[in-house]
Amino acid sequence: ATPTALLAATGRGARLGILVSGAPALERLRKVDTVVLDKTGTLTTGRMNVTAVTAVTTSADADADAHARTGVGAGGHARVGAAEALRLAAAVEQGSEHPLARAIVAHARRQADGHPLPRPVRFAAVPGSGVSALVDGEEVAVTRPGELGGIPDDLREAVRTAETAGHTAVLVRVGGAPRAVISVGDTLRPDAYRAVEHLRRLGLRPVLATGDREATARAIAGQLGITEIHAEALPEDKAALVTTLQGHGSRVAVVGDGVNDAAALAAADLGIAMGGGTDVAIGAADVTLVREDIQALPDAVRLARHTLATIR
Ligand code: ADP
Ligand code: MG
Repeated sequence: ATPTALLAATGRGARLGILVSGAPALERLRKVDTVVLDKTGTLTTGRMNVTAVTAVTTSADADADAHARTGVGAGGHARVGAAEALRLAAAVEQGSEHPLARAIVAHARRQADGHPLPRPVRFAAVPGSGVSALVDGEEVAVTRPGELGGIPDDLREAVRTAETAGHTAVLVRVGGAPRAVISVGDTLRPDAYRAVEHLRRLGLRPVLATGDREATARAIAGQLGITEIHAEALPEDKAALVTTLQGHGSRVAVVGDGVNDAAALAAADLGIAMGGGTDVAIGAADVTLVREDIQALPDAVRLARHTLATIR
C-alpha cells in the first residue's frame, strides 16, 4: 500500500501547488526541524521598486568645489544631481538581470520621459557586490554600500533610513566618488507572517538567510518575528550555514528562489524552490512551490506528515 499512498500524496501535493520530486523527498520533508528561508523572492515578492534617490548635497559639493578650485580631481561630474545619478546608474544596470537592476532601469525610464538611456560600455558585474561600466566616458559603479565610514554624511544617512525600513540601498559612484544612494524596496508576501507562524506551530525553527545587509535583514525578520538571522550571506555562506546546522543535529530544509540559493538548496536535507524562481534554484530543489503564496510551505510540511502518518 505504501507506494500507492505516496503516489496519492504526490497527486494531492500537485493539486495544492506543491510539486514533490518523489517519495524520498516527502519522507525527508516529514523529518525536517529547521527551515532556512531566503529573503528576496521567497519571503518577499521580489518585485522591487525605487523608493528614494539621494544625491550628495552641500558638504561634498563644497569639497568638490574646493577640489575644482585647486584643480584636483572632481572632473566633469563634480555635481551629479539625483536625476543624473539615477540616469547613469540605470545606464549601467541595463546589463544586469538582478531584481535591483530591473527596478532601477524601470524607474529611470519612467523618469526619462521617453529619452533613451545611454549605452554602457565595458560592463562588468561582480555577483553579490554590484556592477560597473563606462557611461558617457565616465566610470560609473552601482554597488552595495560597503563600509559607511568613507561616504558623505547625507549618503550614510540615506543608507540608514533605507535599511531601517527594510529596503536595500545601493551606492552610485561616478569617477570613483560616492555621488548618490538609491533605495529599493521590496514587499513582504501578504501571507508571510502567517506562514512563518504556522511553521513555528508545526515545531519548525525559522532562520533567515540573505545576501542583504544586517539592518535590512533585521527590519524584515522583525516583521515576521524571526530572531535567527544570517545577513550578507554569499552563496557559499548559505550552504555553509546549512552544513553547520546539520552538524548540530538539525534536519534542514532550505527555501529559496535565486541562483545564489542553489548551493544551499543542494546542501539541505530538503531543498524547496519557489515556483517563480530561477531554473537553477528549481533544478537544485526536491520540492517546488508553484503557488504565488508562501503558505504553501507549511501546507507541504503538513502534507508530508499526514501522508506518512496514514501509511504507518
Ligand atoms: P540578494 O539576492 O539577497 O539581493 P545578492 O547576492 O544578489 O543577494 O546581492 C547582494 C548585494 O549585492 C545586494 O544587496 C546589492 O547591494 C549588491 N548587488 C548585487 N547585484 C547588484 C546590481 N546589479 N546592482 C547593484 N547592486 C548589486
Ligand atoms: Mg532570493
